Amino acid sequence: MSLNKVSLEARHISLSYGATEVLRDVNIRIEPGEFFALLGPSGSGKSTLLRLIAGFNQHQRGELLIDGKDITGTPPHLRNVGMVFQNYALWPHMTVWDNVAFGLVERKETGDAIRRKVGAALDLVGLSQFAQRRPSQLSGGQQQRVALARTVVIEPKLLLLDEPLSNLDKNLRVQMREELKNLQRTLGLTTIFVTHDQEEAMTTADRMAVLDKGVLQQVGTAAALFDYPANRFVAGFVGTANLVDGKITHANGETVTFQADGVGQMVLPRTPEMPGPGPATLAFRPHTVNIRVRDEHVDASRTWLDGRVESSEFLGETSRYRVRVGEAVVVANQSHFAGLSLFQPGAAVRLGIESTQVRFLTH
Ligand code: ADP
Repeated sequence: MSLNKVSLEARHISLSYGATEVLRDVNIRIEPGEFFALLGPSGSGKSTLLRLIAGFNQHQRGELLIDGKDITGTPPHLRNVGMVFQNYALWPHMTVWDNVAFGLVERKETGDAIRRKVGAALDLVGLSQFAQRRPSQLSGGQQQRVALARTVVIEPKLLLLDEPLSNLDKNLRVQMREELKNLQRTLGLTTIFVTHDQEEAMTTADRMAVLDKGVLQQVGTAAALFDYPANRFVAGFVGTANLVDGKITHANGETVTFQADGVGQMVLPRTPEMPGPGPATLAFRPHTVNIRVRDEHVDASRTWLDGRVESSEFLGETSRYRVRVGEAVVVANQSHFAGLSLFQPGAAVRLGIESTQVRFLTH
């Protein structure tokens, strides 16, 4: 099966239901052949955007372009877009073969073409031997693959996936996301994937867009969003982050002085992208924080804060500590090795902040 690759572009897309704005001035460009995730919490507008691309929703403002051509007025069946739904939407009374063949029969393809295409699609998802079963005789993962086969068999220009893995149990979800990625690579089909699960987006997508309350927050690779979040929301949603509000009171060529609310003054080495004086949030990841006993000699390359352990969680590979520092609570993860003893609640500790790993966010 060889499919052509298209780009998709949303320009200034806005959509409201009555007085409720669900998408606000969304701008995204998805490259040909890209595996792109729309990531955001429930209600952020992800499905609305996906359904808009499929043609099931209409935006009030903006343009939607496939390969540079505005498809705003094109009805769903003429968009040549394939969509896999969360619940798979398979026909329960039809065999796997007939489910996959359905779209081709509707398009009045010849018997020969149908046999060839359905055979190839079932082969692609590894379900050839189940062709005569009904969906109820398949596992959740297999039903998912039937739904994928049924969608790619019509050779869509774009593949849209709405939370395709959320009905599967944890182990199967991990396995299916690899299968999905392999399938997408094999087909090279421009694919847009909706999920609220950051790990799912990070492990499958080439790039992702983070949405919150209908507003696009940031677009980029998983690593770019994780390392350089544009704002508090992205910092907290893609991975976990310590977020300490405060104010940059002073900056010179080498250092910046940050007055952290409820914590006190911190002097950090200046980095190029640091904002000037004014309100800011200091963001840093739990795994970049060192935790030491209070009286241990510490090296001066980090900025150290005194604190007291409130609670600890042993996760095997790491121990996660919640440490009270003034009025703030900082989460620190420590890699675990056999023989390393845990800090107990109440322990007086010192937290080392690695200055190259902090970001100052201004919104
Ligand atoms: P997500 O997929 O991110 O969970 P949705 O796109 O499903 O979010 O929904 C975004 C917002 O739009 C939600 O607040 C939801 O209640 C609202 N919404 C979705 N569909 C409709 C509709 N048909 N009428 C009114 N509000 C809707």
